[in-house]
Amino acid sequence: MYRTKNCGELRIADVEKNVTLSGWVQRARKMGGMTFVDLRDRYGVTQLVFSEDSNADLCEKASKLGREYVIQVSGTVRERQSKNANIPTGDIEIAAETLNVLNESKTPPFTIDNNTDGGDELRMKYRYLDLRRECVRKNLELRHKMTMEVRRYLDAQGFIEVETPMLIASTPEGARDFVVPSRMNPGQFYALPQSPQLFKQLLMVSGFDRYFQIVKCFRDEDLRADRQPEFTQIDCEMSFVEQEDVITLFEGMAKHLFKTIRNVELTEKFPRITWHDAMKYYGSDKPDTRFDMKFVELMDIMKGHGFGVFDSATYIGGICAKGAASYTRKQLDALTDFVRRPQIGAKGMVYARVESDGNVKSSVDKFYTQETLQQMKNAFAAEPGDLILILSGDDAMKTRKQLCELRLEVAEQLGMRDKNKFSCLWVVDFPLFEYSEEEGRYMAMHHPFTSPKPEDVPLLDGSDIGKVRANAYDMVINGVEVGGGSIRIFDSSLQNKMFRLLGFTPEQAQQQFGWLLDAFKYGAPPHGGLAYGLDRWVSLFAGLDSIRDCIAFPKNNSGRDTMIDAPSKLEPSQLEELNIALDIKENKIIS
Ligand code: ASP
Repeated sequence: MYRTKNCGELRIADVEKNVTLSGWVQRARKMGGMTFVDLRDRYGVTQLVFSEDSNADLCEKASKLGREYVIQVSGTVRERQSKNANIPTGDIEIAAETLNVLNESKTPPFTIDNNTDGGDELRMKYRYLDLRRECVRKNLELRHKMTMEVRRYLDAQGFIEVETPMLIASTPEGARDFVVPSRMNPGQFYALPQSPQLFKQLLMVSGFDRYFQIVKCFRDEDLRADRQPEFTQIDCEMSFVEQEDVITLFEGMAKHLFKTIRNVELTEKFPRITWHDAMKYYGSDKPDTRFDMKFVELMDIMKGHGFGVFDSATYIGGICAKGAASYTRKQLDALTDFVRRPQIGAKGMVYARVESDGNVKSSVDKFYTQETLQQMKNAFAAEPGDLILILSGDDAMKTRKQLCELRLEVAEQLGMRDKNKFSCLWVVDFPLFEYSEEEGRYMAMHHPFTSPKPEDVPLLDGSDIGKVRANAYDMVINGVEVGGGSIRIFDSSLQNKMFRLLGFTPEQAQQQFGWLLDAFKYGAPPHGGLAYGLDRWVSLFAGLDSIRDCIAFPKNNSGRDTMIDAPSKLEPSQLEELNIALDIKENKIIS
């Protein structure tokens, strides 16, 4: 038997027991006539002691153990003289009597420690070693616990987990598809699912009533800290439900996760905000509401006083940073540089401090009377010591998005984005369509299967379909969209109309979605659902900055797995088998 106990379970009550442990050598050090070895496994670290007095050879052998050697040790548990309060096994040690080296190890390329000396790239290349570090392993343990709780909750609510296929046909859902060539059907490709959207809807037509699946989804998008080319969704669908039913059930699931995983009891209903208000007050459809700092529009107050930048603007708006009037000129210049970065694109920033006597001192004082500045101050309900920051522009939406970045940055600087504080909300009433300048047409904001609000259906025949609101909802926590869904169209003629409005000819709609439209003719029930992003939930609960750290084997920002070196070229014979001839443009090769 390799072990009778693991490296995390022995306590003072086990003193005098004979035990056998197996694990990895964290470190071995010789001190006086003893060798101390920290033995590690998934469960913890236990100190082993080899003494010269009882077995000089063994003590010598132990002192030669390299980092990450795999060993098996038998011995007696005894109380430590100098205890280590930092680890659960810190009261005891093993007086080792035997030592069996099960496997040697090359010196690892970085220290297997929470505070490792390994950089990101190195850690990803040797991810299997990185995963030995407690802080990374903990994230995967948390992930496991969360999926267990998700299954427990959904099972109790009558949901059935059903697997849907990975090799499907390309469908438009907003992102680019990853495709897989078909050997048996030369020239034809499968697509990997961006989500199981249509299959889950078909399962509703089949009468499954409540479906879920913890499922890999694939989107070929540019990557960011909260995006990976393959990611995991908790995908759900229900029949005979309205928006309120879905929201209630999944708010319940969120509360269940908060309770069981973070021990946070959320008793209040999550607040709701319309998409329109989210954009107006936060410049984002996923506002971080851990702090207030809502936008205040200033067109009425600030326009028309001779300050050219504002006079030519179609939007002037600002935020009030409580207690930040002490910001130095240098800090304000840095904020101006921040909003001017090309990624944000503002032209400049105006600031105003509310001084201790209530007077307002701004960077544009020469254009405004103190009376106007006071009006502005009142619009923010600003008080002495507050700092007002204002942006303007000729495109309201764009300027609001810039102001959103500024709001987040200032909140970060003021320590208002505490990772242990959670603020949940639902964003509702999304527009059904979004105009794409690139495509020169309206696109579905969520996806083409989302239903319009019944009262807005007549607007579908009008000239401004941008005004139609969808039965769609997103859950947002701390500025992260952790899930979203909608009530679906279940009527084939409305679905046909939707395709038409999205620019599909009847033939194209029939060719791509004929099977769905047909299915809807066989008694499709009213249905709707939602998908939660598992990776985002885990990283939120673990307090991580990137979802990468809660994925066992993630891709880097260029979509590569540097450990296995994927993606990679195919052998000519494989290409031949697939009936594929490559014609790669030199300028398209990135690495
Ligand atoms: N399929 C959608 C998504 O992946 C979620 C949903 O509408 O249920 O975002």
